[in-house]
Amino acid sequence: MKSVTAVINTQALISNIERIKGMAPHSKLVAVVKANAYGHGVITVAQALDSKVDAFAVARLPEALELRAAGIVKPVILLEGFLNDEDLPVIAEQGFYTAIHDQEQINALERTELAQPIHAWLKIDIGMHRLGAAKDEVKSMKARLEASDKVIKPLGLISHLSVADCPEQSAYNEEQINYFFEVAQDFTGDLCLGNSAGIISWPQSRTTYVRPGIIMYGISPYTDKTGADLGLTPVMTLKSSIIALRHIKKGDRVGYGATWTAPHDTILGIVGAGYGDGYPRSVPNGSPVLINGRKVPTAGRVCMDMLFVDLGPDSQDKIGDEAILWGEGLPVEHIANLCGTIPYELVCRIMPRVNMEVKA
Ligand SMILES: *Cc1c(COP(=O)(O)O)cnc(C)c1O
Repeated sequence: MKSVTAVINTQALISNIERIKGMAPHSKLVAVVKANAYGHGVITVAQALDSKVDAFAVARLPEALELRAAGIVKPVILLEGFLNDEDLPVIAEQGFYTAIHDQEQINALERTELAQPIHAWLKIDIGMHRLGAAKDEVKSMKARLEASDKVIKPLGLISHLSVADCPEQSAYNEEQINYFFEVAQDFTGDLCLGNSAGIISWPQSRTTYVRPGIIMYGISPYTDKTGADLGLTPVMTLKSSIIALRHIKKGDRVGYGATWTAPHDTILGIVGAGYGDGYPRSVPNGSPVLINGRKVPTAGRVCMDMLFVDLGPDSQDKIGDEAILWGEGLPVEHIANLCGTIPYELVCRIMPRVNMEVKA
């Protein structure tokens, strides 16, 4: 019997990439594989996509080095840029592309000796107010970077949309896109704007490079849609097994805190997966788990290593039967909605003890 396993379907990954290429046919693809490829396993994902995409993007330097150690030679973009002066020679040597979002990073570049120049993309703030040059800094930061012999020319421009996934905020989204292109008029280098929701909803954000993350994994960036609604296939299926069965009576109280009381005599399934694997403890009673083709409700609090499902009084389910927690047949978007979070968080939270199984 299988304990908790995340099956990673690399065919689904590739079909999602083909779908994204259809959406943004004139853009180069930067596959966003930060946070262990959104919990899917960065090496598995990067190797499956290496011949299909133009570059990879991560948040931080150690993530980029992990890709190089696995034999990935494609450009790797550091979306957060670098944090320390000592990072710069590594970036130069490895040929990483780095976002430059702050004057302090340019100071670091100016004072650090480098054996070769680096690929830099100036990151501007167009409305998120997280990272990026403010409106009154763009010109001077651009001039400093262009004057530096440590920067490969032409300089690139990168930014991030804050409401691309909120169709009701179209005015604020358009303001951000228009401002990006106003700044871009002074750039001859690469432009990089669209994330998943941008690629789908905002054609103008399909720039020289686009940065799909969540849609590569077959998951929707919108709270009211699933990946399937967008023609995508889920890449991760999280599953476990029924490890025990209990016949309980009407009125029996189940689990820590006794938060669920059996409304009738029933058979309880104990599934061998819990929040210590990354299944959310915040899931409410009655959330679906897919067992033998039917959705059965969770019953009682999720434990660290196990959870309960009400299989019903007529259950024929057996110990060892598979329990799908999300993925094929049960969209992770639905589970995330029930928990009041986004699917990004659920897949990112897969714990190291979960078996990762690659399905080619
Ligand atoms: C994570 C991230 C992305 C990918 O976002 P998705 O919504 O998953 O497509 C793109 N750009 C930046 C800067 C990011 O941090």
